[in-house]
Amino acid sequence: MCPTDPDHDAGHAGPAEGDADDNQEPGSSGSDGRARPGAWGRSTTAVWSGEPDHSPEGATVAPLFLGVTFGFDDLDEWRAVGAGEKPGHIYSRNTNPTVDLFERKVAALEGAERATAFATGMAAVSNTLFALLEPGHRVVSVKDTYGGTNRIFTEFLPRWTVDVALCDTSDHDAIESAIDDGADLVYLESPTNPMLKVLDIARLAERAKEVGAVVVVDNTFATPINQRPLELGADLVLHSATKFLGGHSDAMGGVVAGAASEVEPIFRFREINGASLDAHSAFLLARGTRTLELRVERQNANAMQVARFLAAHPAVEAVFYPGLPDHPGHDVARRQMRGFGGVLSFSLKGGFDAMRGVLGRLRLAHRAASLGSVATLVGPPATTSHVELTAEQRAAAGIPESLVRYSVGVENGDDLVADLRAALDTL
Ligand SMILES: *Cc1c(COP(=O)(O)O)cnc(C)c1O
Repeated sequence: MCPTDPDHDAGHAGPAEGDADDNQEPGSSGSDGRARPGAWGRSTTAVWSGEPDHSPEGATVAPLFLGVTFGFDDLDEWRAVGAGEKPGHIYSRNTNPTVDLFERKVAALEGAERATAFATGMAAVSNTLFALLEPGHRVVSVKDTYGGTNRIFTEFLPRWTVDVALCDTSDHDAIESAIDDGADLVYLESPTNPMLKVLDIARLAERAKEVGAVVVVDNTFATPINQRPLELGADLVLHSATKFLGGHSDAMGGVVAGAASEVEPIFRFREINGASLDAHSAFLLARGTRTLELRVERQNANAMQVARFLAAHPAVEAVFYPGLPDHPGHDVARRQMRGFGGVLSFSLKGGFDAMRGVLGRLRLAHRAASLGSVATLVGPPATTSHVELTAEQRAAAGIPESLVRYSVGVENGDDLVADLRAALDTL
């Protein structure tokens, strides 16, 4: 029989526990007198967290470390870094300074001790699930998770004899009773994609704690500017950094954040699974993250303006946006979010053909998959967020044929409304 020694991992070069503190306090040891991050606002945190105290040559922007490997003159130091006794880097699949910088920014923004980054959002989702789950475990989640996540639940985890209970997203009582039946991991996403349903994270996390389940929240739609799941009782928060964190549709990535002890097994799985974030993407994602609050505040405002316009338009059947008072999740969203986010969806009275026509007439919004960009992105869920599902699965998920998902960018809200008005008024 082959030995399976979990401690045998020669390539491990992760920061030792306790380093996270140093990492999150760029100003605390420096002589420049910057305040401690705990007292910082979100934008100050986004700009300054994770930055090195002393950048080489005093560079204003921390350099991009493309090096795959890092050398040591002293073999003892090499060994100590490899053993995680000293901070440092050995090989970029394990850790890299530019990736570290991005991870520390996200950890600080989420109020987490530590974060670990991935090549894509789906790598963050899958590595988290496969690192934490074992055969025989039970997951409780909802039907409206991201399409790719839903496929892990329905296609892959059952093969590993992990039992997955997917509850009606709008039925908190059903989710609670599924948790009461026993859960090792409770996986939540709020607001959801593309119907913008809202889950009461604090309520469900509390219930999950009663059965000892780990609570994971996909916070991609909300961003840490609008919602901080760890403060609401979650153990781990994850993101597709491809979306709002990066914010410019020019880099892919994912990230998981939480207590160092919770993140460690996921980091160790990612090291040997190989779904590591590359330094170039990390540099772009960190650059995007520095302006996260500015962008998200504009996107919150734009989405509200667009949602109000659509709700009053006669061609529109329904608007799904948690910022609207008649949205079923509005009260919970008001409690747990600082802003309602940059994504909304709407259905049209004219059905599928009307949707085709309206999308074709938009001149400003870019017809493309993805969301959270500086540019407004629009598309039908069938070809964007839920392309991984079959037509039958989409119908079962209650996604209308005429649904348009609209992810506002940072353009001027009046221009977005004018673009939509021109496209809708011809109906
Ligand atoms: C896009 C997305 C993902 C997957 O991220 P990728 O970077 O595309 O792999 C996961 N969850 C949500 C909510 C997303 O929007």
